[in-house]
Amino acid sequence: MKRNVPAGVENHPAFRGFNTGCCGRLVGHMAWVTVFVSDPESHWNAASEMRYKESEEKAIRFLMDSGGTAAGLHIKERAHYRVSLPFQEKRSEYKHTVSEAVLKMGYLSFEDMRASLRQTFFGVEHVAVFFVFNKKDRSFASVSNGHKSILSTRRSYVATDEFGVIYAGSRVYLPFVICHELLHLYGAMDYYYPDTVKREAEKHFLHSIMLDFGGVIHVDEFTKFLVGWNDDLTPDAIDFLKKTIVTRRSVSLDSITIHKPLKRRTVLEIAGKGDQHVDH
Ligand SMILES: [Zn+2]
Repeated sequence: MKRNVPAGVENHPAFRGFNTGCCGRLVGHMAWVTVFVSDPESHWNAASEMRYKESEEKAIRFLMDSGGTAAGLHIKERAHYRVSLPFQEKRSEYKHTVSEAVLKMGYLSFEDMRASLRQTFFGVEHVAVFFVFNKKDRSFASVSNGHKSILSTRRSYVATDEFGVIYAGSRVYLPFVICHELLHLYGAMDYYYPDTVKREAEKHFLHSIMLDFGGVIHVDEFTKFLVGWNDDLTPDAIDFLKKTIVTRRSVSLDSITIHKPLKRRTVLEIAGKGDQHVDH
């Protein structure tokens, strides 16, 4: 079904990657894949993996109870993998980290990994992947925001690579953190910054999982629209969009140059930070 964006708000940055991400709509048959990544300074073991899986199960229950089940989401497969890096992971170099993790798992690239997993899990329509670390830092989601086929400096990383990176060292709110990042992978936007967005979100979407994790958290109606659980915007959401349309930073594509053709796509290179990563 087609989702309608009313005239006047269709250029809102919230719709930058609308319907274009690898993950698409958060409905139908999905595989949920977690990669436990150890590095020389932070290790996973059976006990810590088990604790993480418990948080993941809570995240899934919350997701399904908050609208997933009603929207026809079915988490058909869950899988957990382990990989160890020979170097210490740094958040600012996550592309390097993910590239190495994927190569160590035996895939050529993240895209190759996702494609292989889709074949492995017969009947699955989309695969959400999390790389998780047993240390403290700010979790985030790497999302393409609709800019397809943008190659970063590392060849095995492409900006259509959409995945969550979870730092599980701080276990406070961990199930909500996991769920928040998953929603980003399917198009949800943050409500906690900048201040204009936060102020309006507090009026319209108080206690949304995209705003903060305190109180009685829920998935608000606009997030449901963005992830494909609703087909129409509520008047409340339209009001929010009108009041925040010029406040969000937009991505500059000034410096795009065609880099070189690959077999299956034209590869673009963006100088600086072309693709986005979304802080939780
Ligand atoms: Zn976020």
